[in-house]
Amino acid sequence: MLRQKRWSLWFVVIVSLIFGVGTAVAQPEDELTLSLSRDFGTGLATGIQGTFSFRVSGPDNLAKVSFYIDEQLVGEDSEAPFRLQFKTGSFADGMHTLYATGITQDGRELTSNSISRNFLSSSEANRSVLTIVVPILAISLSGILVSMWIANRSAKASGGSVGNVNGPFGGTICPKCGKPFARHIWGLNMVVGKYDRCPHCGKWSLVRAMHPDVLNAAVEALQEAEAAQNPSQHDDLDNENRWQKRLDDSRFDG
Ligand SMILES: [Zn+2]
Repeated sequence: MLRQKRWSLWFVVIVSLIFGVGTAVAQPEDELTLSLSRDFGTGLATGIQGTFSFRVSGPDNLAKVSFYIDEQLVGEDSEAPFRLQFKTGSFADGMHTLYATGITQDGRELTSNSISRNFLSSSEANRSVLTIVVPILAISLSGILVSMWIANRSAKASGGSVGNVNGPFGGTICPKCGKPFARHIWGLNMVVGKYDRCPHCGKWSLVRAMHPDVLNAAVEALQEAEAAQNPSQHDDLDNENRWQKRLDDSRFDG
């Protein structure tokens, strides 16, 4: 019951928001509305840099619009659409207030809302972009490292050098060396498969997820091949056991 009530409240809020925006967009008869559009450059919360345009809408009989930056007339337009393009680089860095005035055909004078923006120098804008982009890169990079670390751990935990080939992204068989491996999270999704790196031969190839039965057969074949190729590991283990046994035996000699 409470849940339902809450939902209906949300519905009312959302509907009133939509209608509220709708009425704000509808142009009252004697109002001049200024908005700013980015044509080329950087628009950030910290400021703007590049080429931008004043866009002014007003009553149908609007005859002329004058554009201002900090009380200074920067241009006029006597034809709809009322627009003026400017470059932030033409003005001093820092806060600027933009507004427009208009005259209607019947002689009424209108003043628009004003918009304040921090004009950034291009180096400041680049720095601002970097402060946003670099952390995003760092986060995604650390995400990859964490997933690699987890993949590495789980491969070790599962015992063999082959590891688990039936990962969340499916397993596949490397077309270059014929060995099975689990597809990785960082593999690039292509239409027909993932572009992924084989951990055995290190080559990149386009691989499709394969059926677990096919993979298990390939894993068994690989494990057998590795056991045949590299029997020293088992010998080491046997030697160790033998030594342990001898030690145990010798305890009773004394
Ligand atoms: Zn391979």
